[in-house]
Amino acid sequence: MSDAITLSNLIRQGIQPTPLLVCAGGTSSRCAADGLWTLDLRAGHRQLIISEETDEVEIGTGLNMAEVLEGLQTRGRSIPVGLSTIPGCGFVLTGGIGPLTRSQGLAMDHIVGLRGVWGNGNTFDLSAPTNRASVETESDNEVHQQWRGLLGAAPFLAVVTAIRLRTQEITPLVIWRSVGSIQQLAVAIEEAEQWHHSGSLQWAWNENIELFITCCADDSAAMQAVESLKTRLGYCAESSMTIVAGQHAQPPFGTLARSTTAQGHLHHEVISRLGPAWSQRLPSLIADLNELMRHRPHLGCQINAQQLGGVSAQIPVSRTSFIHRDAIWKPWISAAWTAGDAKGRERALEWLMRTNNLLSDYCPGVHLAQIHPHLSCHQKELNDAFQDWLPGLTQLKSHQDPLGLLPPLTIT
Ligand SMILES: Cc1cc2nc3c(=O)[nH]c(=O)nc-3n(C[C@H](O)[C@H](O)[C@H](O)COP(=O)(O)OP(=O)(O)OC[C@H]3O[C@@H](n4cnc5c(N)ncnc54)[C@H](O)[C@@H]3O)c2cc1C
Repeated sequence: MSDAITLSNLIRQGIQPTPLLVCAGGTSSRCAADGLWTLDLRAGHRQLIISEETDEVEIGTGLNMAEVLEGLQTRGRSIPVGLSTIPGCGFVLTGGIGPLTRSQGLAMDHIVGLRGVWGNGNTFDLSAPTNRASVETESDNEVHQQWRGLLGAAPFLAVVTAIRLRTQEITPLVIWRSVGSIQQLAVAIEEAEQWHHSGSLQWAWNENIELFITCCADDSAAMQAVESLKTRLGYCAESSMTIVAGQHAQPPFGTLARSTTAQGHLHHEVISRLGPAWSQRLPSLIADLNELMRHRPHLGCQINAQQLGGVSAQIPVSRTSFIHRDAIWKPWISAAWTAGDAKGRERALEWLMRTNNLLSDYCPGVHLAQIHPHLSCHQKELNDAFQDWLPGLTQLKSHQDPLGLLPPLTIT
């Protein structure tokens, strides 16, 4: 708790100007900004303590996912991570969708304890509330609300210094990667929407379309589904099937989608959406995306998606701030421009907004893994991320961060 106490003292002394920005892995565009302070957790907060009895792990929020997996590997344990192990604990706190989401749930669903400091300077050390009893006291209800707020909306409420997670045995994975045509992408999406096993489809659309399908190696139904999809697709370029020991050994996602490397140092903004199966609307979505990709303003601009559902859909909506539990797809739009190119940035952001508007029709939810108070869409993305939970969250913020130390939930 001493980590949190030092931070609490610092907050109570007063930090100006606000908001205070927080950097865990430093992979989002809002962990630092001109004229604002950043609290960089990577310098401290680096403990990894595995409990012998419970197989739970406590991690300091300065560790990234590669470091967490490496620490757990020595004990044959793991947590479900995303398509890359570069992100830090912001990944876990904002949801954490990955190839194992359908079989194990979101990374967030494995959290059993959280420690840190609220925006008002008070420290907390919370454990996951047990299932709601029929009669609930006011203080139980308060803890439920706090827990719900921290899981998915922590960046607006608190600085989390340590996370306790349930671990899993390392799961060997089968990964099939290839380059497909637009028609093959449509077929793969159509099939994947029927899956009821550990298989999950992720795709990246740039110069090429990369198909990246994963399933648990011991799941014969999923293996059969992948084989039957391969047969239905016919020839796919650069097709390869690999078995990896676990997520720590996953091949990189997205590299097959690009054959030309964009030159220079690139900047990115990313917006992630969440939505249900596309079913009958798939042909029109594919046609719209094709049009947007044909007019992308920079080689680095890309549209991707990952599949969720399964176990992630079984968690009650009221338990966390990740409310889009019925989502099957998370498409994310990555807009890129060359650093220093102001006109290029303008064009890329205009494309980002156009693509986001189009996708919001198919995917009404937002996955708030990146926050964008500096972009015009921010209030809308807050509304789309939290919907009817936003008033409850705002009320929670009025208690836990009344002076607005952390980023606001309402744009004035
Ligand atoms: C290469 C790459 C691959 C990715 N793959 C996936 C994927 O497969 N699935 C997926 O769901 N997402 C994925 N993401 C998105 C990623 O999960 C989010 O961008 C996430 O927010 C990154 O967390 P971070 O700690 O690295 O970044 P940061 O920029 O340090 O933090 C992100 C946000 O969280 C807040 N925050 C961070 N730590 C704390 C804390 N301890 N307390 C309070 N607030 C905090 C920060 O204020 C910031 O707003 C990927 C991102 C990258 C760059």
